[in-house]
Amino acid sequence: MDFEFTEEQRMLKKNVRDFLSKEIAPIVDERERHGPFTREEVVGFIKKLMPFGFYIGVLPKEYGGMELDRITMGVLNEELSRVWASLAATIGIAQLAPLNIADAPDELRQKFIPQILEGELIGCSAITEPNAGSDASHIETTAMLDGNTYVINGTKTWISNGTIADVCMLLAVTDKSKGPLGMSTILVEKAASPWESKELHKIGWRCFPTGEMYFTDYRVPKMNLLGDVATGYKRTMREFESARSGMAIMAAGICQAAIDASISYARERKQFGRPIGSFQLIQEMIADMIAETEAARLLGYRAFCLIDKGVRARLESSLAKAYACEAAVRVTSKAIQIHGAVGLSDEYPVERYFRDARMLTIPDGATQIQKLIVGREAIGIKAFV
Ligand SMILES: Cc1cc2nc3c(=O)[nH]c(=O)nc-3n(C[C@H](O)[C@H](O)[C@H](O)COP(=O)(O)OP(=O)(O)OC[C@H]3O[C@@H](n4cnc5c(N)ncnc54)[C@H](O)[C@@H]3O)c2cc1C
Repeated sequence: MDFEFTEEQRMLKKNVRDFLSKEIAPIVDERERHGPFTREEVVGFIKKLMPFGFYIGVLPKEYGGMELDRITMGVLNEELSRVWASLAATIGIAQLAPLNIADAPDELRQKFIPQILEGELIGCSAITEPNAGSDASHIETTAMLDGNTYVINGTKTWISNGTIADVCMLLAVTDKSKGPLGMSTILVEKAASPWESKELHKIGWRCFPTGEMYFTDYRVPKMNLLGDVATGYKRTMREFESARSGMAIMAAGICQAAIDASISYARERKQFGRPIGSFQLIQEMIADMIAETEAARLLGYRAFCLIDKGVRARLESSLAKAYACEAAVRVTSKAIQIHGAVGLSDEYPVERYFRDARMLTIPDGATQIQKLIVGREAIGIKAFV
């Protein structure tokens, strides 16, 4: 067992932290007041952050990418989440474009890779529908073959980057008689055929675009199929393992921001003639916050470590997501408590950390679903059908 980052990962963490604190942190609170990012803003941030490995890190070297392991991508994600959860989530989803392009047919790869190398292709992934959230096995969107074209009909909802994405990996039913075994993932491209969408407002991640997407007789060339036909559901379940581990790391980043803010406030704020940090009950809250954050971080990186080794991490990624995301709600709530009244005000960042942490327990499978997966993997009996 090795709990240390490599020398390169430590250097990267330090360099990214320095850069983010100078170049990004000063604009966060003001920008959060003005709603979701535009596509152009996101492309601008990607270009700025790509040299560290954000976005391009998931692209294989043979296509000009950095091919970073997931732990290194986790380090980047944790540091960005510590500064700006909205941006970490947006870039995390945008990089589904470089991540999935390796599986696309040659023609699509040749078309998209130059755009990816410029940081110009924003990705998203559309599974959820109005009638299918936790139960993705019952999606209703169809993609029916008509000659060499898929004709897509359906509504996708709560899709991260759905309002700004250039490409979307869309899960649809291609064979109605086979349930989840009749679902395929199809790459749809806005420039070739625009889709209608509407933005959804949220409690946290205020700059993170999240939308509902509408497809009516929407036509896509057959070659836009990702992977083999009817492998979409399986592919989605496997991708969840990475996504859930990433959410745990994101939780650790938000928690770390809450701890850092709380420690510095506890040192400065005086009551009863002493810094509040000298009171044992404040120290207990800080100790609990650190314990939960360390546990969240270790669970997240452990799941990534398994995935990097090519080992399935069904239990580990769900355990990490369930624990870390709920822990982030507790940790950021304690940060508000330590700040007293000002913790509730948007003059201080801890109310944003709390709102951002509250976002974590729903996407990529709500906590209850993660626990059911842990239970299924541990006991060998499925409690949900
Ligand atoms: C910010 C955000 C971003 C998102 N991004 C994407 C995206 O990019 N792509 C995408 O496809 N989807 C996305 N989603 C959708 C997300 O995956 C779903 O919201 C999530 O899976 C839960 O589905 P639901 O909201 O329909 O809740 P429901 O499935 O209706 O669940 C409601 C409640 O019931 C509980 N529940 C459901 N089934 C069971 C059960 N068997 N046992 C016990 N409890 C149960 C749930 O845990 C939850 O507490 C996003 C959601 C959010 C909030």
